[in-house]
Amino acid sequence: MKLKNINLTNPYLALPSLCYDRVNPTPLKKPFLIHSNQEVADMLGIDISDREALTHFVNGELNLNGSDTFAMCYAGHQFGHFVPRLGDGRAINIGTINGFHLQLKGAGQTLYSRSGDGRAVLRSSIREYLMSEAMYGLGIETTRALAIIGSEHSVYRQSWEKGSIVLRVSPSWIRFGTFEYFAHSKNFKELEALADYAIDECYPHLSNENDKYLHFFTEVMGKTARLMAEWQVVGFNHGVMNTDNMSILGLTIDYGPYAFLDDYDTNYVCNHTDQYGRYSFGNQPLIGEWNLKALALALEPLVRKERLEKIIKHYGRLYSRHFLYLMGKKLGLDEVFDKDFDFIKQMLGMLQSLHVDYTLFFRTLSRYDGDRKGLLKLGLLHRPMNEWLDEYDKYLKNNKTTEEIRHKNMLKINPKYVLKNYMLQEAIDEAEKGVFDKVEALFTIAQNPYAEHKEFEHWSKATPDEFKNQKLSCSS
Ligand code: AMP
Ligand code: MG
Repeated sequence: MKLKNINLTNPYLALPSLCYDRVNPTPLKKPFLIHSNQEVADMLGIDISDREALTHFVNGELNLNGSDTFAMCYAGHQFGHFVPRLGDGRAINIGTINGFHLQLKGAGQTLYSRSGDGRAVLRSSIREYLMSEAMYGLGIETTRALAIIGSEHSVYRQSWEKGSIVLRVSPSWIRFGTFEYFAHSKNFKELEALADYAIDECYPHLSNENDKYLHFFTEVMGKTARLMAEWQVVGFNHGVMNTDNMSILGLTIDYGPYAFLDDYDTNYVCNHTDQYGRYSFGNQPLIGEWNLKALALALEPLVRKERLEKIIKHYGRLYSRHFLYLMGKKLGLDEVFDKDFDFIKQMLGMLQSLHVDYTLFFRTLSRYDGDRKGLLKLGLLHRPMNEWLDEYDKYLKNNKTTEEIRHKNMLKINPKYVLKNYMLQEAIDEAEKGVFDKVEALFTIAQNPYAEHKEFEHWSKATPDEFKNQKLSCSS
């Protein structure tokens, strides 16, 4: 359907007015289209062939049927400290289509902007645009984006930069922090309305259950445990796991100073402002649990505390089960059991001590046929790798899958490419000069990270030493 003919709905606006604030986007000056995602357009059922109309759409300038734009209100625990009101400070919801809620990130100030300018700069928008698609390509739960625009609009961070907008889409933008807002401000009527809405939007099969709020929490916990396992096995460090950045659908949301691991390091902290490493790579599963406890607390007006506490005790087991299952697949094993955790820990310890590139290790292992040369080359010392491979050989002996099929399966789960920060930075450096070829190139590998893409071979190597384990600033 052509953009001018689409019909938007706004189901969130049926909630009590405390839940949101109506606000219009403030368009950027001289907008231009940088990239768009045809797959997402197809998913939404909209025709984006008119590039000019698409640019104006992303810039919030089109008059759309049914449009009633607003920002959502939420609170959140930031680095463990409760902030009573956050909200969409720079994301404006423009409506819902085909079950997806459309947001313009960087479209100007809202009631919730606090001291912020409501803008997003080009580099952070490119990072969100590309990484959300990369996560999707990796099969990890995430929001997606329809398009990204640049502009001549000056935005000040540590220096003058250019404003940009990403039109991002999600089946739900409700966060743990959305519940925390109403619970902490003691607006229990709104809390209940939000819970009912969230269930209808995300877990409609629970709508008529007696214990629907308890079931709701159980489902959110399951999805969160799965997401944490997905991040850990792929080597993704989110960086800002505040409760306002936790989706009740277990989606990866709000891409900021994230990073993929270079060399495997459980202590890696991608976020420069995270002084104490609260959101370090290795802490993520535990923080997932901490955040669920914050959500449980917010749900206490609706569900008895003891019942929530009983449920959350299962988190660790759920997480471990997903982690083990996914690791088993990465290793090409037919079956994995709890007792195999030691073997996996041995592998992770070996990777950590040898400073092995995490992605490259699994990709190389995906072609392992008994010849160890390729793997031994990845680390300086051979002994720890040989010791682990001795164990791995024993596992492979018990595998029923043939070597050929195992290799095939492993190459489908162990990506050749992940978007490491140095690669994104290359694309950003070019984009800031008005050249978007590398944005296009990274988009191509993001969509299919398991394919060979011979022309991009250099990006499949270990991260160059000078770019390893860098930290990123939150200022975006
Ligand atoms: P984040 O760390 O990006 O998840 O943002 C935390 C909170 O700050 C959210 O409520 C954002 O909407 C808000 N925020 C971040 N950057 C800006 C900005 N430039 N202008 C207004 N609000 C912002
Ligand atoms: Mg956020």
